[in-house]
Amino acid sequence: MSISFDFVRNQGSGKDITSYNPATGDVLATVKGFTSEEARQALLRARKAQKTWAALPVAERARRVKNFQYVLTERMDEVCELIMLENGKPMQEALETEVLPIIDLTAYFTGRAEKILKDQKIPLHLIKYRRSFINYRPRGVMLIISPWNFPFTIPIGAVVMGLIAGNAVLHKPASLTPLIALKTRELMDEAGIDPDLYQVIPGAGPLGSEIIEMGVDYVNFTGSTAVGKKVAEICGRKLIPSSMELGGKDPLIVTQDADLDLAAGAIVWGAFCNAGQVCASVERVYAHTAIYDALLAKVVERTKALRMGNPVQAEVDMGAMVDIHQLDIVEKQVQEAVEQGATVLVGGKRGEGPGQFFEPTVLADVTEDMEVVKEESFGPLLPMMRVSSDEEAIERSNNSIYGLNAYVFSSDPSRARFIARRLDAGTVMINEVLITHACPETPWQGAKQSGTSKVHSDQGLRDLCFPYHINEEIVPQPSWSPFWQPYSRKMYDRIAAGVRTLYAKGAGGKLEGLKSMFRIK
Ligand code: NAD
Repeated sequence: MSISFDFVRNQGSGKDITSYNPATGDVLATVKGFTSEEARQALLRARKAQKTWAALPVAERARRVKNFQYVLTERMDEVCELIMLENGKPMQEALETEVLPIIDLTAYFTGRAEKILKDQKIPLHLIKYRRSFINYRPRGVMLIISPWNFPFTIPIGAVVMGLIAGNAVLHKPASLTPLIALKTRELMDEAGIDPDLYQVIPGAGPLGSEIIEMGVDYVNFTGSTAVGKKVAEICGRKLIPSSMELGGKDPLIVTQDADLDLAAGAIVWGAFCNAGQVCASVERVYAHTAIYDALLAKVVERTKALRMGNPVQAEVDMGAMVDIHQLDIVEKQVQEAVEQGATVLVGGKRGEGPGQFFEPTVLADVTEDMEVVKEESFGPLLPMMRVSSDEEAIERSNNSIYGLNAYVFSSDPSRARFIARRLDAGTVMINEVLITHACPETPWQGAKQSGTSKVHSDQGLRDLCFPYHINEEIVPQPSWSPFWQPYSRKMYDRIAAGVRTLYAKGAGGKLEGLKSMFRIK
């Protein structure tokens, strides 16, 4: 490994933000955070750059952003290496969960943006002599506040979509992972994207709120439900539109007819990928009692085979935990569960230092009232529970304040779909886990306290624009209308007759009703 940190420049003059390798505890680099004043200046520069950018046709913006796809594809090894260093995950995981999805998302949206953002006709069912359409115009300056668990794929998907939509983007990365954002800015330089159009604003959490208070035009927040509520409050007070992608406690249901090898493989990947620090991790399994023991044996066997460690030193399947506080939460959840009667079948404790590791852990004999089943673990914990019917599995899955993803494993498609339709989750996957975040055409969204909006999908791109409604005449508008002044009893009777012809039971229909209102013979 021979990564250079030359790209760590153009910082502010605020407090130092130290970036660590969570797998070793070594300092990677120190970044100067932005002061409030520097953030304000960045916002002013973004406003100016956005005006020129927004004036370009969508196709031209997409063409320029496509250069980023080419640069990233060319330089993906160094990006994956940096993600491994700053985020503690294995290189393959960095490629398949962070970099590949962004290359593909950029290809998808640069290829389709013109079509997605073109004026959208709204057929008018009654007033046929006029027509309406939606004209998508950029919102202005968009602020992205992002978490540390996927420091590349989460914010950079929003950056790419925001730019294509015609916005300037300010990005306040998580303070544990500023380097990946700064590296992206370097790639954008090479792609020819104006430095003022995408600016990285390193800083502690509250700086994000300060920037919202300064007055941005859109906020894209991804993080915990607790912080999301604070950010949404500010947005609400200032009437700034926003998207909130928040926490999860995702359930996975296995019916007795499921392919148990498939289910076990997906459960282990879904629970321990990124050391469980995935908003859509498999955090609770409800397996039918008829197959519970067989499934548990397969899950335990696969989990025991996982290799944990520093991905720089060896080929491993699970890397480090990024946030030491989250590691404490995970440890506490296991200790409390054991005190309350849970059994640890694999793992259950911190890994050997010097880095921040927690063993992949499978828990049995857990109950719904334990923190490990109720609250987000955001770490490598897998509570496995028995149910005696699909009904019980659905009820217990839905018994949560969260509703991000849910998963169903069954060999019967109609049974799986029947269960899926009754789960309270923004996305339900059948016989697979996690991967829809990498499908740019599908909405990524949370139900209940997992979020209020969607990112990705064609509609997600449109949401980064303001949808102006334009209504125009098809035939020349006469110089009068029955609805204009002067009002009179006579005109009232005419309109009322038209309403009856239109809407009363057994009514004559639209044409007759309109003719009578407008006195057309
Ligand atoms: P966090 O809420 O602590 O921080 C998220 C971001 O908010 C960071 O950039 C942080 O600096 C910033 N922040 C903190 N305090 C702030 C404040 N007062 N005002 C404005 N910004 C502030 O979350 P985290 O620990 O970085 O990430 C883990 C959480 O994110 C988990 O709950 C996880 O489920 C969630 N998450 C959700 C999704 C999703 O798509 N729904 C994806 C990834 C992570």
